[in-house]
Parts: sequence; C-alpha cells; structure tokens
Amino acid sequence: MINYPDSVEKLMKILKNLPGVGKRGAERYALSMLKWDEDKLIELGELLQNLNSEIGYCPECGALSNANERCAICSSTARDKTILCVVEDFSQLCTIENSDVYRGLYHILGGKISPLDDEFGENLRIAELLERVKNYEVREVIIALGADVEARASAIYIADLLKDFPNLKITQLSQGIPAGANLIYADGATINLALKNRIEV
Ligand SMILES: [Zn+2]
Repeated sequence: MINYPDSVEKLMKILKNLPGVGKRGAERYALSMLKWDEDKLIELGELLQNLNSEIGYCPECGALSNANERCAICSSTARDKTILCVVEDFSQLCTIENSDVYRGLYHILGGKISPLDDEFGENLRIAELLERVKNYEVREVIIALGADVEARASAIYIADLLKDFPNLKITQLSQGIPAGANLIYADGATINLALKNRIEV
C-alpha cells in the first residue's frame, strides 16, 4: 500500500464521491491533477468555491441556471411557449432535451407524489405549474413523469388539477417507456416515439 501525502489522500477521498469513481479511478484522477499547471488548479479551486453561489434555479421552469436568471430554454425565442412538458427533475429534462425532438418548454416538479415517504405534493412545484398555465397561453401540458407507481399517481393528480382549465390539452408519453422504468434510462429514439405518439389523458 502506497502512502500518499495527506492532501493527495484527501483529494482522492473527495473524488470517490463522484459516480462511477472507485479507489483506482480516484487515484488516477488525483495523480493526473498533480501534473496540472498551477493556473488550472487555481481555476478549478475558484470554480468549486463559487459553484453554489453562481448557480440557481430558473424562476419559470425550475431548471438549473445561472443565479437569478431564467434558463436558456425559457429565454429562447425559438421554443414553443404554448407547450409545457412536466418532468420530475433536471436529469429528466436533460434526457428529453438530448433526444433533440422537443421544442416546447419544461416544468420541473421537483419530485413525485409518494404517500409512503409522506410526500403528498406540498413540496412539489404544482402551484407554479398552475400559475404558468393560467398566466401564459399554454395550450398543451405533456406529463412525462415515467411509468412507475408514484409517477402514475402524480400524473393523475396533476391531470385532475389541470382539467379546470378550458381548452387545455393534457397528454402523456405513449408506449415505449416500460412500466416501472425511469425516464432517464430511455434512449433518444424511445423518447422521440413516446413524444410523437403522446396520448390525451
Ligand atoms: Zn427555465
């Protein structure tokens, strides 16, 4: 067993928190970073130090964005602002966005209704969703929460609340997302198909 200097040991311990990085990986990254120029190390240090204060959440959709700014999707003039796609979290937004077929806006719920975990919707961004539908000319809400039990319960709950809006189309992703599957594991082609063939709730 090699004994690394204390600071290298500490660096490896931190790197091991990253997904997919084990002991060997952390060792490789740490040793590689020791070869970096001083400038690059300082830049990384400063970036990490300011990370939390420089990022925020889009006041519209709830996606990660620069602090106190709307996200790039909500600010874009190229997006169809009359369609909202409701997703559970930012990683699901990324999955749909990476499939490169969807041109509307998103709404991040921030979780799912889960009675077993005492989550009945109070902590979710449901009021914000209703507010957006009310204040903007939204003509369709696509519920894209996946197909597990909690996702389905959340979809039913949200669809029920949205039914009060006249002329609003409420849809959900169609076939292709297997029951119990999480949306983030679906590939681009599957999402493309599920979006194109979305069905009215
Ligand atoms: Zn946004």
